[in-house]
Amino acid sequence: MSKTPAPAPAPPPAAPATEAAAPAPAPRGKKKRKPKVSPQVYKFYEVQGDSLKRLKQECPRCGKGRFLAEHKNRLSCGNCGYTSFKKP
Ligand SMILES: [Zn+2]
Repeated sequence: MSKTPAPAPAPPPAAPATEAAAPAPAPRGKKKRKPKVSPQVYKFYEVQGDSLKRLKQECPRCGKGRFLAEHKNRLSCGNCGYTSFKKP
């Protein structure tokens, strides 16, 4: 009745091989950015001889080049939200 020595514990399984690095994402086609100028700016000016006449009121907050949109009862700036109400 001899005690058999306990077998040595098995070594832990080897760690799984590190996964291969994920492939780099495919480069997206570069989009050309258009300048942020409305193609309808010609509606805001009127040429008189060799000078320009501005047909719309300019935004007092944003300054030159920003015009107020005309609504029924108000003028408003699409850039900053400035609103001025028309007098009835
Ligand atoms: Zn504005």
